Amino acid sequence: LLSPDGGLGVTIFEEMTTLAVSTGAINLGQGFPDEDGPSEIKAAAQAAIASGANQYAPGQGVPALREAIAAHQKRFYGLDPNPDTEVLVTTGATEAIAAALLAFVQPGDEVLTFEPFYDSYGAIIGLAGAKHVTAPLLAPDFMPDLNALENAFSSRTKVVLLNNPHNPTGAVFPRHVLAKVVELAAKYDAMIVSDEVYEHLTFGPAHIPVASLPGAAARTITISSAGKTFSFTGWKIGWLSGPEHLVAAVRTVKQFLTYSSGTPFQSAIAVGLALPDDFYTGIATTLQHKRDILAAGLRAAGFGVYSPSGTYFINVDTAPLGICDSVDLARRLPGLVGVAAIPVPVFCHPEGAERTRSLLRFAFCKKTGVLEEAAERLATLK
Ligand code: PMP
Ligand code: GLN
Repeated sequence: LLSPDGGLGVTIFEEMTTLAVSTGAINLGQGFPDEDGPSEIKAAAQAAIASGANQYAPGQGVPALREAIAAHQKRFYGLDPNPDTEVLVTTGATEAIAAALLAFVQPGDEVLTFEPFYDSYGAIIGLAGAKHVTAPLLAPDFMPDLNALENAFSSRTKVVLLNNPHNPTGAVFPRHVLAKVVELAAKYDAMIVSDEVYEHLTFGPAHIPVASLPGAAARTITISSAGKTFSFTGWKIGWLSGPEHLVAAVRTVKQFLTYSSGTPFQSAIAVGLALPDDFYTGIATTLQHKRDILAAGLRAAGFGVYSPSGTYFINVDTAPLGICDSVDLARRLPGLVGVAAIPVPVFCHPEGAERTRSLLRFAFCKKTGVLEEAAERLATLK
């Protein structure tokens, strides 16, 4: 049996969604939209199925999707990956993260992440036998202390697993923070694995891929996912890009995890990536409106609210309501008021869990009426 040391056990998303379903609560826990993405993408998947694209895809991904990924990187960021050698399609960003870490990390190596960190990071670092070192992100803006970041590096740091925009805090890192990461990665000769699944879900300055900074591309693998950008989280189509030798190493691992990823969904996502710019600005504007509705509701309900610059998530402080243990609250909340949320301490090691003890994460990728109803229910907590 696996020990829980690597953060394994039942994921918090499974636990809270199961609780939401069994209590009939509004699920603002697990981050998935309650409306599907563009109909032309769905139609493209249906057409692909009807045309017989139902057997294994090439392990590297269908050519049309790899070309669309490369074109998207060029259009938005001026990056120019070769779709034949520098792009790999994966079964969600989750597989990309796992395959990259298993490819790059040996037992005893250190992997550095910010804290709080997305739950699969701890588990995969544990499965790879590596040591998970963290640098804290601190409220209210959840930016890193750059000295603490530097202190977290060592000669054993093999990979910096960056997440920008950041789940669960909603932070979007500005150029000077990314430049510091690149500078330190170069100084300690570490690779950067950058999880950018929320790249198009930002509400202020545009997302900056770390790979676009001077000196970064040669040591960086960039990961993204169709789940977030196109609201098809259940399709599990993700991808990564980077230098050929790094992508080849990840591909070697991917062969034995899943071999390949869902064929008809891949060609449909190629259609999505080619959508015009107004689709991309539209999703961010719509989501920003939802953020503002939920933030106002949470403030009215008495929480301390940290309004995010990106992602699907708002973090709140429960302390102003006299509640100090968000893990306990998250377990009781669905039964208490009919709303599910995710406690932030589960994204932390013990010291970070203490620091974030009263923080709770709510997802706002839901219909506005659902967000308003959730806020009204939460207001009864006061
Ligand atoms: N990374 C982060 C930061 C996430 O929030 C998520 C959840 N969508 C994932 C990776 C996993 O993405 P996917 O569903 O494409 O596997
Ligand atoms: N990324 C989503 C979240 O943070 C959940 C993904 C999952 O269920 N593993 O809520």
